[in-house]
Amino acid sequence: MRVLIVEDEERLALTLASLLKRSGYTTTIAGDGLGGLKLAGEGTFDAMILDVMLPGMNGFDVLRQMRADGNDTPVLLLTARSELADRVQGLNAGADYYLTKPFENEELLACLRTILRRSNASVSDVLQFGDLTLTPSISSLACKDRSVSLSARELQLMELLIQNSGHLLSKDTILSKVWGYDSDAGPNSVEAYLSFLRKKLNLLSSNVRICVTRNLGYKLEVKS
Ligand code: CA
Repeated sequence: MRVLIVEDEERLALTLASLLKRSGYTTTIAGDGLGGLKLAGEGTFDAMILDVMLPGMNGFDVLRQMRADGNDTPVLLLTARSELADRVQGLNAGADYYLTKPFENEELLACLRTILRRSNASVSDVLQFGDLTLTPSISSLACKDRSVSLSARELQLMELLIQNSGHLLSKDTILSKVWGYDSDAGPNSVEAYLSFLRKKLNLLSSNVRICVTRNLGYKLEVKS
């Protein structure tokens, strides 16, 4: 896996590179926005870690230009805590994930795995659980000969539940993975979308249900 690091603080860039190397990634460092954009354009990276405050061209503009060029490399944006208000701007610009400085190494590696998994999931054809088949490319959830289409949020939520089947997902986890840091969403949004999905599972007469363990979280189960 090749990761492009665009970060102007040299010490942080080198620390990131050595952390990623120890975890088996190959890294390339760019020290400014334009250089990062140029390297990203070569299209040989599996993921990109992009600082927001960069000399020349800032991270948001790099990202916007990449997406405008049709480059869908997953991007993890790094931002200082004082720039929290810019999160929505970053997500709108096409970021896959946000990490606020300072961060823990483990947190960064986990985010990186998440965005890599997401980008792989979007190219793979189908996900299965119980009698359900989820086809992300056409937003379709099917059970035997029935199928329903899912909204973008419902699709992300269903993907997350299937990919984590067997584990309880807390409301906070669901919120951050599906809604990112969209400030308008809250626990009620999670409940609303879980209830939309439950209705669709009923429509499909699926043997899969979304179980809730009070105060702990949600997971998929096959009805026996
Ligand atoms: Ca910086």
